[in-house]
Amino acid sequence: MQTINTVLELQQTILNLKKQGKKISFIPTMGALHKGHTSLIKIGKKHADITIASIFINPTQFNNPDDLKKYPRMLDNDKLLLEKKSCDILFTPSIEEIYPKNLETKVNIDLNELEKPMEGEFRPGHFEGMMQVVKRLLDIVMPDYLIMGQKDFQQFTIVAYMIKVLKIPVELIVAPTLREKDGLAMSSRNMRLSPKMRAISPIIYQELVKAKEDLKTKKIGKICENGLKSFSKHGLKPEYFRICDGFTLKPIEDINNHSYIVACVAAWAEDVRLIDNMILKKAKK
Ligand code: AMP
Repeated sequence: MQTINTVLELQQTILNLKKQGKKISFIPTMGALHKGHTSLIKIGKKHADITIASIFINPTQFNNPDDLKKYPRMLDNDKLLLEKKSCDILFTPSIEEIYPKNLETKVNIDLNELEKPMEGEFRPGHFEGMMQVVKRLLDIVMPDYLIMGQKDFQQFTIVAYMIKVLKIPVELIVAPTLREKDGLAMSSRNMRLSPKMRAISPIIYQELVKAKEDLKTKKIGKICENGLKSFSKHGLKPEYFRICDGFTLKPIEDINNHSYIVACVAAWAEDVRLIDNMILKKAKK
């Protein structure tokens, strides 16, 4: 695996690969890699000749400075994991490479309110920063395929919308969420969970499974209320438990009026913020 730190060297390398007719998959990450991330590498390799991963802890998407400070950093280990999965290129740019002084990188598009609820409500500015970095990385890498995880449902929904609005020539592929044996969604943040919180956290997945079962018999409001109560009872501090339309991310009332329904949750396990989601209904095309 080749590790590249600068935009110039990466672009020269990519230009050469494109001249040879190679297709490129791109997997942006913030590092502290786990099997969820490497599953994206595997999917990337299936689609293209060359797989490029990036590790960049993007400061502009952190609304909480403490979260940014505590974000795990373990580059040596990440490199070993990527080598093992035969990733071709790792891009590890500095902040100055991604955000040079004289370059306007902010993305100003109307997201049709996709950025407003859930993460947008509890992490103001997060999606502006996320779009800014994804757009900048797409401009640099110009991949044929962008591989992202379903784990961040609102994130990939917004990226899909941005790609459509800006007509970026890339195909977004959404990969399923990889989970620990007890259901907890794999996350770089999980390593910061205390043993007590690690034992409690699978309740998030269990409540999502329950929401899916309850969808046919219970009112949406009741399902969400039960989920929130259960999180609190088990010692988590919930932020939201929403059942919404999978396309618009707006809350729903009648399940029969929607062909795509998703439950999205966020909760604090002491000082670690966890998010997860589950698709409750998706009509076949
Ligand atoms: P992050 O490093 O957390 O920014 O994540 C980088 C990419 O990995 C994003 O597209 C995430 O949605 C995806 N990802 C994170 N956790 C998982 C997981 N458990 N399963 C699948 N993909 C994941």
